[in-house]
Amino acid sequence: MTDPLPSLVCSSCGREYDAHAWRCDCGAPLDVAAPPTDRAADPLPERPPDSWIDTRAGLWSFEPFLPVDRRVSLGEGLTPLVDAPEWDAEFKPEYVFPTGSFKDRGATVTLSLADALGVERVVEDSSGNAGAAIATYAARAGVDAEIYVPASIKPAKRRAIERTGATPVPIEGSREDVTAACVDAVENGDAWYASHAWNPAFFAGTATVAYEICAQRGWTAPDAVVTPLGHGTLFLGAYRGFRALVDAGWIDSLPKMLGAQAAGYAPIADELHGRDGQRNDVADGIQIREPVRRDQILDAIADSGGDAVAVPEFDTEDALAALRSRGFDVEPTCAVAPAALDTYRERGAVAPDDDVVVALTGSGLKIQ
Ligand SMILES: [Zn+2]
Repeated sequence: MTDPLPSLVCSSCGREYDAHAWRCDCGAPLDVAAPPTDRAADPLPERPPDSWIDTRAGLWSFEPFLPVDRRVSLGEGLTPLVDAPEWDAEFKPEYVFPTGSFKDRGATVTLSLADALGVERVVEDSSGNAGAAIATYAARAGVDAEIYVPASIKPAKRRAIERTGATPVPIEGSREDVTAACVDAVENGDAWYASHAWNPAFFAGTATVAYEICAQRGWTAPDAVVTPLGHGTLFLGAYRGFRALVDAGWIDSLPKMLGAQAAGYAPIADELHGRDGQRNDVADGIQIREPVRRDQILDAIADSGGDAVAVPEFDTEDALAALRSRGFDVEPTCAVAPAALDTYRERGAVAPDDDVVVALTGSGLKIQ
């Protein structure tokens, strides 16, 4: 344990913790407080260096923004930015990752922190993608992993977890029941909670999507970014990345952060617009009724002039068919993002001349 380790701070009451903690005693989620002193010794330059991206380092090109050293990596990140003229947008195919989803951004940073802490066993709860990512990076680190999953998990996602040597723990009931069972295991055992919803290292990892988008656009931010929104792993991470770049003076303003939720599981959109009674069971990866970082998601929307919408099932299926017919082999959940873009345009939240980046979050290869 020679690495400098980040300290954590409660997002609600401000109490400080060391990097072993996963939740404040008050119940609120923790955030990375500040980089450890010797990581902050070299201040960021006023402008980004010309040769910022190192193709061998992947997303660890942005290590000065990350709270730990690169210790557990599979060369992840630097996903493409692809023109999508049929949608009048650019797509960020976040399924171009070792385990087929953007969750590897969080997993590489979270397991790097676990390794720095000397953790020997991690647990996570997930509908599939985050579980596969944590299991895979735990295998890379030589750390045991137990992944709590819904009993209804897609067989291919369960197999992706099992192949790594991790143990899937199927739980009957709702997605909330899965989390509750996992939290019980953390509270009553000795495992470290590598949670994509709770662990602040995970969000430091997903923030790299913002650094990549801006680097790929010549250090300019788009006008709007659309992502699926469940626990907000990518949505909030991206917001934090753009916010860090604004604060560093590297970009001028935040993009509007626009979330795409599944109707019937859309607490953020329901709060902003009221509930419409539909239900979207196609987008199974974002069926989150109680996002851990709900207040932070609402703050990110307010700060960026963003929004959230609830996407019905038939719009998701239409968008999925359109994506696949144009070569984007994605899983159903991420089709909510291009579907939501249509809604945002109809509502005027996205103007005709806005530059828009849409994140495609999970591979279609993992749902068989
Ligand atoms: Zn607190």
